[in-house]
Amino acid sequence: MKSRRILVTLISLMALMHTPSLMAQDEEVADIDEWQVLKVEAAKDPFAKGNQFTINFANYTEEEWHYPLPGAHLISPFGGARHHAGTDVKTKPNDTIRAAFPGEVILSGPYYGYGNCVVLRHANGLETLYSHHSKILVKVGRWVQAGEPLALEGRTGRATTEHLHFETRVKGKAFNSEILFDHNANKLIPQVVVFTRQPNGTLKITTSQPQQEKSGEQ
Ligand SMILES: [Zn+2]
Repeated sequence: MKSRRILVTLISLMALMHTPSLMAQDEEVADIDEWQVLKVEAAKDPFAKGNQFTINFANYTEEEWHYPLPGAHLISPFGGARHHAGTDVKTKPNDTIRAAFPGEVILSGPYYGYGNCVVLRHANGLETLYSHHSKILVKVGRWVQAGEPLALEGRTGRATTEHLHFETRVKGKAFNSEILFDHNANKLIPQVVVFTRQPNGTLKITTSQPQQEKSGEQ
């Protein structure tokens, strides 16, 4: 698979160019999982092969997801009268905010009303956004595993209290993160989620229970 090899080399080069301090990042560059790199690259356009893609979260292992702010409770849901683009969850100031899925850091720094903000692109075709941090711990181009620290909980940008504003997105369009996570239980919901791009450009999301394999266990 010569072409794959070339792609990996190219992507590695791009990752290196994003890295301001090569010395400090040597270990992390060596840590990059080749398949993860390829999957995240492929996920740049989840609709590349059609108007629909499916993620079976029921198949996710402990290594493939992490609740972004352990111990948090929900303080403000998605949508509503103020068209909230994310879900606000809270613990206490300076608690550690963690990557929801493995992926690449594609934005890191102050971003308008978001304050200190981190955006990740994941192999499953989604993006996640985390904002209002007191401190950011990762740089653009960095590859993170699920659960890796991204930032510390804060109130930078338009925020009246320390909290995490968390968004789940498909190609920059936010959708309700409660489709993926139970924010009060701090758990991923083990279901099948189908994302469909509608002719008018909006995103349609349907969920279903995974097909149970018949087994003799009981
Ligand atoms: Zn918010």
